[in-house]
Amino acid sequence: MLLSFSILKFIFIMADSPTIRKINSLLLKRFGKPYRAPVLPDPIDLLIATVLSQNTNDKNSYKAYKNLKDKYKHWHQLKNVPVKELTNTIRTAGLANQKAETIKKIFSSLFAKNKSASLEYLNDLNNEDTIKELTKIKGVGVKTASCVLLFAMDRDICPVDTHVHRTLNRIGIVKTTSPDKAFFEINKNFPLGIAHSFHTNLLKLGRGYCKANEVKCITCPLIKVCNFEEKSLSESSLKAENSFMLLDNV
Ligand code: SF4
Repeated sequence: MLLSFSILKFIFIMADSPTIRKINSLLLKRFGKPYRAPVLPDPIDLLIATVLSQNTNDKNSYKAYKNLKDKYKHWHQLKNVPVKELTNTIRTAGLANQKAETIKKIFSSLFAKNKSASLEYLNDLNNEDTIKELTKIKGVGVKTASCVLLFAMDRDICPVDTHVHRTLNRIGIVKTTSPDKAFFEINKNFPLGIAHSFHTNLLKLGRGYCKANEVKCITCPLIKVCNFEEKSLSESSLKAENSFMLLDNV
């Protein structure tokens, strides 16, 4: 029986697609094992830090996070803080008003549900239900919820932001049109024990080598396995990498 061209093409792509484990080991060879704090952060701290990190760099969001923690020693103090005051405290993170609204909603939702500012109740839920629970809060999306799972709850979950999404597509691990679609695709069966190194090193690759408007394929550790058809083989000097990662420093 003759196979149609589209089926042959599908088989060809699948046979050629590098595996997550293979990518992980190549990234580890280049970047090493990413730093991870010896004690995992409290999930609520991580959730707030992730909200602050949206659409800004990790250094600015870290400043905002520090301001917030220095000013309010306990999260329950935020219950009665006006949005305007909160906005001023987190201004360095950018989109401060929107982020202050989200933070207020997180705490009002937690107080209404548990009468506390804790996310401890999530410990009893599986990954899927934890994501469903967190994304019920307005302003908390799949990426933010998945960061809580990986960075604070040590689950085998790989968050997908815009950098990870772009890079996964170019390499050929997924063919998806949004970070959330890629997230559900790769996390159906994510290999155990490598989510933190894979996510963190792929993010580093996406920020430093596989940028939106510039690819540095000639120096990329994935050049031999990557399926991107428009690889750039021109020499271009690498700028110093920004290796500070907020979510490993909460
Ligand atoms: S080889 Fe080029 S396109 Fe592929 S991941 Fe590396 S930088 Fe991106």
